[in-house]
Amino acid sequence: MQMKEALELRKKWGDKPCDHPQLVKEYHLGTQTGDRVCTQCGLSASPEYFKKEK
Ligand SMILES: [Zn+2]
Repeated sequence: MQMKEALELRKKWGDKPCDHPQLVKEYHLGTQTGDRVCTQCGLSASPEYFKKEK
């Protein structure tokens, strides 16, 4: 998912709670950022962060 799309998702989702059911790799244009993005709320963070959350 592109960083821009993640930002849009975050705006739409607001600050509702989310258990991040599905994560995808985050891209900036054609390049992976190394982070993961939640397809539901648009949160973008390192894979380690999401591991700790669960
Ligand atoms: Zn989420």
